[in-house]
Amino acid sequence: MRLDLFKEQLAEAGKPLEPTGERSYLGLSGWHECQRNLYHKAKGTPRKPIESRIYRIFKQGHDIEDQTVNLLKQVPNILIEEVDPETGRQFEVQFFGGHIKGHFDFRCRSEYYFGETTRKLGEIKSANDKNFKLYQKKGVQQTNETYYAQVQCYMHGTQNNENWKDHALTQCLFIVFNKNTAELYIEIVDYKKAEAEHYLECFKNALQAQQLPEKYSDNPTFFICRFCDFSEYCHKDKSIELEKIKQCKHIQPNMTSGNWFCTKTDCEFYKQQVGGLTEKCQSISQ
Ligand code: SF4
Repeated sequence: MRLDLFKEQLAEAGKPLEPTGERSYLGLSGWHECQRNLYHKAKGTPRKPIESRIYRIFKQGHDIEDQTVNLLKQVPNILIEEVDPETGRQFEVQFFGGHIKGHFDFRCRSEYYFGETTRKLGEIKSANDKNFKLYQKKGVQQTNETYYAQVQCYMHGTQNNENWKDHALTQCLFIVFNKNTAELYIEIVDYKKAEAEHYLECFKNALQAQQLPEKYSDNPTFFICRFCDFSEYCHKDKSIELEKIKQCKHIQPNMTSGNWFCTKTDCEFYKQQVGGLTEKCQSISQ
């Protein structure tokens, strides 16, 4: 018997063959109440290695999303669009030259169910039974602020934007799939401009920070820090190794072109993520 070997191979089987392809932008799905966490995401600070179990959770989330969209498509009298007819790709919103971006699950329209013809943004999430009940009791905003910020910023990205012309989205059909019981929770989230601007400001501050933002808590066992990918830097004094040019404390984002530029040498780096470090580069923790 080689059961241990089998278990090892099984753990490897779900991992992507290529590294997960770190994004060259800050994703709108990553809003966090801790500004330092957002800073690390903006600068691409290496995270804790991902266990294979987590990849399986990600995959399960994608499968649930597909299942739910297929279900929606079988409902009569509602139009579900998974891809942007203008581009043939997933719907995308972006800000600050593309430094901040997000992709939403679908767009829908139904005069029959919604009483008007305006299109709505659609977002699907999954939750365990305990969290699902919180959605039912308290709604999205109070249950998961990260998701709430995400859909507010998505809707914000469709306002007054020439790419969206007359299709600005001011409501979101938010669906939560219960992973224990397969029940669905449905909520309509209204666009709130001031709230969306607040969340966007957090993302922008993280991109432009020239000092490490304050910690959310000094207590490593505080639940927000306990589940944070960057806790070793905050609570175990792990130093931030420079791997990417955007991590250098002298680098700033060009909010129009989407590039990065060096405030010391005036060099501009084209959407550069990896390598290209110069001897003048300095870690923010130096
Ligand atoms: S460990 Fe805590 S303080 Fe540090 S980045 Fe994460 S949430 Fe913020």
